[in-house]
Amino acid sequence: MLAVTILGNNSALPAFDRHPTAQVVTMDDHVFLVDCGEGTQMQMSRYKIRRSKINHIFISHLHGDHYFGLIGLITSMGLLGRTLDLNLYASPALEDIINLQLRVADIQLPFKLHFHPLVAQGVILKEAKLEVLCFPVYHRIECWGFRFQEIRPVRRVNPEKARILGVPSSFFERLKWGEDYITKEGNTILNADATDPGTPAKSYAYAADTAYDERLIECVRGVDLLYHETTYLKDLEARAINRFHSTTTQAATIAKRAGVRHLLIGHFSSKYEKLDDFEVQARELFPNTDLALEGVTYRAGGPASAATTPTEPATPPLSNTATTSSADTRAAAPKAGTAKDAAPKKAAERDTAAKGAASKDGAPKDGVSKETPKASSEGA
Ligand SMILES: [Zn+2]
Ligand SMILES: [Zn+2]
Repeated sequence: MLAVTILGNNSALPAFDRHPTAQVVTMDDHVFLVDCGEGTQMQMSRYKIRRSKINHIFISHLHGDHYFGLIGLITSMGLLGRTLDLNLYASPALEDIINLQLRVADIQLPFKLHFHPLVAQGVILKEAKLEVLCFPVYHRIECWGFRFQEIRPVRRVNPEKARILGVPSSFFERLKWGEDYITKEGNTILNADATDPGTPAKSYAYAADTAYDERLIECVRGVDLLYHETTYLKDLEARAINRFHSTTTQAATIAKRAGVRHLLIGHFSSKYEKLDDFEVQARELFPNTDLALEGVTYRAGGPASAATTPTEPATPPLSNTATTSSADTRAAAPKAGTAKDAAPKKAAERDTAAKGAASKDGAPKDGVSKETPKASSEGA
């Protein structure tokens, strides 16, 4: 399974009970963290994502709303006695930043940090069943997108057919990868005669903060699930261009032209309390669009309503989350947090929940003032 759980869907400021960007990508045995805005640890606790499962963290760029939670997370991992190595993939400057923070605080971590500087498009992590690639996106500072790609056999062996044709079981693994079998007599058994089509490999692409740029199309072409930022509604296209961000229409255009299956939109500007129009506008061009809502898990390759509402009940104390080892991190707990809420919610219901995050007078719950953020900080 390949799925993404949203921990933070806002840009720049936390507002309206929305948090700066962070996501968890689950594939094979991995739990990958993608971006780590302020508050990510609290969101991980809320949705029962265990720190101890995370061995690879991918940071798109060094605007604070994408990594200001990182030093806190790393420090907590140390306090909790982590010994496994931790891999960080980011712009080269991150190494100096983290090392300075550790040095001035006189912190000796009990585990090793490996910095993997992102310098060129290509594969940055490869294992037998998956690979992760980075690609440039187009923002005010250097910024990277990530593509998570399953690696699966292209064919499934049909044991009955294979046996009748005389293919030995020792050759089955090679059959799965499309090879023909040559008999001792030199006859060729065509792969297609002994196999059936395999389950297609799934893919997820994360296009972080970016202006509309058609060079992205090839990087995300054909993915099952694309996250593309939509900081603004379509009427603010000029502002989006000016600040190297995208609108609903622009994200939907990329999704459509890249032939992706399902679009997730997020990184909403703090100027918007309600998100309904984001979904409406994107769906005008690309109907299979969903809002990236915090606490919801979206499966790559799932149906249009693939958002699965989390099934874990109550939020555990912060200190317990790293030491438990059996919880299913593939589904996170809903904000309302009870198992009986487990039925998948329709988009409209989820919107209502999102709208309900603000108090009746319209002020965000967390006390952030309703004033429009200053131009320099909006949509970082
Ligand atoms: Zn941002
Ligand atoms: Zn940014």
